[in-house]
Amino acid sequence: MEENEVFSQLLAIIEQYYRDQRSGIFLDYHNPAELADLLQLDGPEGSENWENLFGWVEKYLRYAVKTNHPAFVNRMWSGATLPTVIGEIVTAISNTSACTYESAPVSTLFENYMIDRLLDIVGFTGGQGQMTTGSSNANMIAMMCARNLYDPVIKEEGVSRGRLVAFVSADAHYSMDRAANILGLGLKQLVRVPVDRRGRMDVEILAQRLTEVQAQGQQPFFVAATAGTTVRGAFDPIEPLLALRSRFGFWLHVDGAWGGATVLSETLRRRYLQGLEKADSFTMDFHKMLGSSLICNILMLNRGKNTLRASLAAGDGSYLFREDGEDGMFDLGPSSLQCGRRVDSLKWFLDWKFYGRAGLAARVERFLELCGYAEQCLGRHPELEQMAPRESFNVCFRYRRPEAEANRFNLALRTRLYQRGISMIGCAYVEGRLVLRLLITNVSIDEDDIERFFAGMVDTGRALATEWKAGATG
Ligand SMILES: *Cc1c(COP(=O)(O)O)cnc(C)c1O
Repeated sequence: MEENEVFSQLLAIIEQYYRDQRSGIFLDYHNPAELADLLQLDGPEGSENWENLFGWVEKYLRYAVKTNHPAFVNRMWSGATLPTVIGEIVTAISNTSACTYESAPVSTLFENYMIDRLLDIVGFTGGQGQMTTGSSNANMIAMMCARNLYDPVIKEEGVSRGRLVAFVSADAHYSMDRAANILGLGLKQLVRVPVDRRGRMDVEILAQRLTEVQAQGQQPFFVAATAGTTVRGAFDPIEPLLALRSRFGFWLHVDGAWGGATVLSETLRRRYLQGLEKADSFTMDFHKMLGSSLICNILMLNRGKNTLRASLAAGDGSYLFREDGEDGMFDLGPSSLQCGRRVDSLKWFLDWKFYGRAGLAARVERFLELCGYAEQCLGRHPELEQMAPRESFNVCFRYRRPEAEANRFNLALRTRLYQRGISMIGCAYVEGRLVLRLLITNVSIDEDDIERFFAGMVDTGRALATEWKAGATG
């Protein structure tokens, strides 16, 4: 089967499923061991074969619960309405993140429109809304907003009155600050440790801070290494942190949202993630470098089988979870923050089976090679300057301008490239200086595309510089 036949094949399967979903029995039940046998989870990977992939899809549908069947009446939801199914398919094909207007212009307006409609219907005049991953998350956010309003000190100082202290690098992701806020730790209890010239956490300074904190009678309880920082792509060294862990006894987390994908390649793992297997927890996103449709993430913990449940389970879920383990299979819900959980595993599983670990590893290795190429390309354009040594996948640069106007100019350049549909590139500040950040996560990008990207950048930059000059003199 060719790639251009994929959609007709998919639609044929979907149509068949849709026609049959209310007839027959709602489930062809098998116990977990039998089902595992039928599914043959160890089937081949890495064949990049569409027939095989659709074989998995058919198996998935054959043994799935037909939630649109009239017999499925036990939950607060059932098979989705057709317009929302269409929405899901369109969402997947146009995969984007609804977190900024520039990456999701239409959906931002749709979301705001719907929120306004609902605020109006509910009667929250002048109120505010947000789509979340579900009411579980929404309840927590509501409680947090209330807590921060009634005791504003907690957001900064935390509920432990400063006893627990967490450490991340100065370049760590903002989600760490949010976590410190949500957990009642207090923003001040999150120490941002300076980075070295290459953007990696300075382990010596960390050791000093840990010693100080301990001397003050506080408990350093959590250190997060970033594996691939968001702006510079630096990898905090894990092994020296393991050595500090044996002295101070903290929990060592590795945030591999971006660079954690290197774990799939033996060579890259050796280069970037030495010691990872001894960390206490590790997270990586399949929806970033590995290309799954949003959202697709995994958190892994290295402290036995009961950590998540022991830490997260709370409240009475007996209407939902069967603790008697009839099937000998544990529910995923009790160790999740959510109640309703989207099936993110299907796309993940299909991708894994289709490309195989080796295929995904090759993809990551290829991205790294292309980033090397981009760096060389950058060096051939005297109008551009590299703004940080390339540590891995991130290429940070800017259009060369006098320091006083460099930030403003590069921002204007970026806007023009975006608004004229030439290219869309991220920007960030490194030590107060605006850098443009090239990231390659698209499998169809090749060397020619990178050449064209820089050519478009330089052409547009030259034109803009000429206009600025004319504006200044005339
Ligand atoms: C993107 C990113 C995150 C956030 O991950 P999401 O899956 O987008 O929520 C966290 N840490 C780092 C280092 C990141 O680059």
